[in-house]
Amino acid sequence: MIMPLINGLKITLKHMFMKPVTLQYPDERPTPSPNFRGLHALKVSHSKAKCVCCYLCPTVCPAKCITVEAGEDQEHNKYAERYEIDMLRCIFCGYCVEACPVDALKMTGEFELANYKREDFVFVKERLLEK
Ligand code: SF4
Ligand code: SF4
Repeated sequence: MIMPLINGLKITLKHMFMKPVTLQYPDERPTPSPNFRGLHALKVSHSKAKCVCCYLCPTVCPAKCITVEAGEDQEHNKYAERYEIDMLRCIFCGYCVEACPVDALKMTGEFELANYKREDFVFVKERLLEK
């Protein structure tokens, strides 16, 4: 009877002096690993999105949450006039990033995506452009 009590107290005392493994979020924020798959970003080159609107990422996306529409610029180059990702449906698998032939897409460490309205989870091109 007394030994389990002593063993229990030993465990309690040991944990009282151990470094806590939890963070006091949001006052303390974790640093995501470089491999973390958070919010997407469209990479920019020469002040324009690198995306050439090849439709590969919406094709491979298992959640079908990417919408791309092509436009044509003055030099007759195709570009993504509309690029949207519905974050409510995204499963953060990273297939879209792997599929991109021009390395135009990446996933960032941004994980704070909570919001109040469903429409605020739709990230349009302007919101996705690399800052
Ligand atoms: S991470 Fe996966 S689910 Fe999310 S947009 Fe990319 S391919 Fe689709
Ligand atoms: S795969 Fe890359 S280039 Fe093709 S539509 Fe997606 S982001 Fe644009």
